[in-house]
Amino acid sequence: MKAWRLLAVGDHRLVEVPLPSVGDRDVLVKVKVVQASVTDSEVLKGLSATPSSRLIPKWLAEGRPVQRGHEYCGEVVEAGKGVISLRVGDRVSSPSRVYCGSCKRCVAGRFSECLSPHHIGGDIPGAFAEYMSIAEWGVVKMPTVLTDNEIATLQSLCSCVSSVHSAGIAMGDSVVILGQGAMGLGILQAARLAGAGQLIAVARRPETLALSRKLGAYETINTREVDVVSEVLRLTDGIGADVVFDAAGGNTAYGLSGFQTVAQAFRMVRSGGKVVQTATLDAAMELDVVSMRARAISYVFPEPASISSMELAALWMATGRIEVKSQITHVLHGLDRLPEAIDITENKAKYGAISAAQVVV
Ligand SMILES: [Zn+2]
Repeated sequence: MKAWRLLAVGDHRLVEVPLPSVGDRDVLVKVKVVQASVTDSEVLKGLSATPSSRLIPKWLAEGRPVQRGHEYCGEVVEAGKGVISLRVGDRVSSPSRVYCGSCKRCVAGRFSECLSPHHIGGDIPGAFAEYMSIAEWGVVKMPTVLTDNEIATLQSLCSCVSSVHSAGIAMGDSVVILGQGAMGLGILQAARLAGAGQLIAVARRPETLALSRKLGAYETINTREVDVVSEVLRLTDGIGADVVFDAAGGNTAYGLSGFQTVAQAFRMVRSGGKVVQTATLDAAMELDVVSMRARAISYVFPEPASISSMELAALWMATGRIEVKSQITHVLHGLDRLPEAIDITENKAKYGAISAAQVVV
């Protein structure tokens, strides 16, 4: 089969490799649509700081295959003889982590706390390929009404569902979402379903804010036009928001805000409120813990996306309560066009893209 393999940092090649082996409890999945995440781009350039990405230089040195890609829609084409929940022909997608199933926390049923989770595109060769092999408990069977393109967006969407779940939004809470990329728009829609009251979307591109209004934001703030902290305080009668999501922080090389939006979040949250760190930050940062303690602010890091959060995201999408079609702005055909898709994902504003570019394999 054809697969994109990282041979060294900066050396990403489409090569011919053997089909992956399929264990008794595994399924062989034919990749139908895949999209590149910002994390994939960072890993290919050696810039990612996530714990799983830090292992990649070691794997490259050991000659272990590094095959990225974790946002996909696939179809089961072969099932191991012990597989009970899936059949050939089922369409599937996955959260980015697959729990091990055998550690102390997994045995206790606490899968989100798995001591040795496997990462798709890391420990498990990923979806930048024609086929991938994965344990049956690592995939979710998809509703038939969803298109392949919609299904490929579900990995990031289920992380949004996990973020909103971790935030513990109470009915009527005022919610601010900093950043309106795929994650911000997903959080916006999930927070609305979770009972948010005032729903304020913040971004710097007018075209994304128009989409935010269409998808349920009651107020939008363009950071290029006004001071975002003052505006949120004005909209909340000087109190601040109950919950603020940072869905914009991260590497400035990819159009993200660095630590700027984290700092803004702490200035616009009410005393006793929550700041939820959805965006992945790429370095250590200083926090004003004196103020956080005095104002009783919670800084929440979302639980990892799970099978149940993906099932819920798929259900919400299948029943029309979450919409992603308008975010799928760039679809390329052929696995060989992955580098173009990565370029679009890295430069969304330049290409007028909202979400990651997709590749139909
Ligand atoms: Zn485990």
